[in-house]
Amino acid sequence: MKKRVLVTGGAGFIGSHLCTRLLKENKEVLCVDNFFTGSRDNVAELLKNPSFELLRHDVTFPLYVEVDEIYNLACPASPIHYQRDPVQTTKTSVMGAINMLGLAKRLRARVLQTSTSEVYGDPDVHPQPEDYRGRVSITGPRACYDEGKRCAETLFFDYQRQHRLPIRVARIFNTYGPNMHPQDGRVVSNFIIQALTGQPITLFGDGLQTRSFCYVDDLVEGLVRLMAMECETARPINLGNPTEITVMELAQRIIALCDSRSVLEYRALPQDDPMQRRPDITQARELLHWKPRIGLDDGLRRTISYFDALLARNQSAVHP
Ligand code: NAD
Ligand code: UDP
Ligand code: UDP
Repeated sequence: MKKRVLVTGGAGFIGSHLCTRLLKENKEVLCVDNFFTGSRDNVAELLKNPSFELLRHDVTFPLYVEVDEIYNLACPASPIHYQRDPVQTTKTSVMGAINMLGLAKRLRARVLQTSTSEVYGDPDVHPQPEDYRGRVSITGPRACYDEGKRCAETLFFDYQRQHRLPIRVARIFNTYGPNMHPQDGRVVSNFIIQALTGQPITLFGDGLQTRSFCYVDDLVEGLVRLMAMECETARPINLGNPTEITVMELAQRIIALCDSRSVLEYRALPQDDPMQRRPDITQARELLHWKPRIGLDDGLRRTISYFDALLARNQSAVHP
């Protein structure tokens, strides 16, 4: 019998790559999405595969299906999207977690939560190991996402303790690649579209803040390994690429790789924007024997090709 895997948020950026990967492993995939930020286009190819099923559903409502494993990705991930309806963002994280945990409990299924580096907030420990408790604003504009994700983690660890549920928790750091939403407002998609269309590159603040960017294929490999990992008691595991660069350097790399004439344009730094972010991936290396393999230039080239093709098809779809 093929294993049946539920992927919530499967029509989104990371979810669509995860569904593709699971189908390659000969799994049956049930993709559940309300299309808030994801789209049918991201999984259009997969719909041809009889092992793939797509269900429009909002995870804040209960879900009764029969599966062997659950990856819970449903949640808008970019600041402009998660801040558009902040109450819904918290509901998605918290009520979505409760429903997926309830479902997993009934089925005794393993359930993986995609948490985030945002649980560390604007960190004062660098790089961030999993035992760092973070510096998160409770009331700021990012809190709906950060606190929602923190509460979801709390629920996962309580279901593990209280109901002996087999859980896995990945803390994902900035990830990029094909199928990113063109109007996501994320730095990689914004800069690539701006560079390809000759628009000014919008640098927020002085551009000296740092991030560490992981290519989506590497991230998906980490998620699959984490789900497969055998352990009695799960701990949160950081997944990300530890190569840290400033946003300014990222802009220069993308301009060079696109052979673009775009100029830099400085804009105000959004409130609570973290200054530094880099994962400590010691645990992922030791427990999952995982490390990112795709370098930034290689990953950016693949992402640029994706947006180049998208622009050729539809100019108006990609204006940031
Ligand atoms: P995304 O916005 O492309 O995908 C999220 C998907 O969830 C979308 O398809 C969206 O329609 C769906 N969704 C949102 N609310 C829903 C709801 N209530 N019910 C059902 N579906 C819903 O984002 P992504 O970058 O693919 O992120 C996937 C997961 O990984 C998210 O949980 C995110 O928090 C986490 N994550 C992503 C990153 C990153 O850099 N991309 C970093 C850290 C964590
Ligand atoms: N749930 C679900 N699908 C299931 C089982 C449960 O969506 O197959 C939801 C249901 O809405 C419930 C929540 O998961 O409220 C938590 O379930 P649990 O059994 O932990 O607690 P309950 O609220 O039922 O006591
Ligand atoms: N950023 C920027 N220009 C943009 C979009 C983002 O300078 O057009 C900055 C943003 O202020 C942040 C970094 O790039 O410091 C990463 O932003 P993103 O929204 O991609 O991810 P997050 O802030 O959630 O890490």
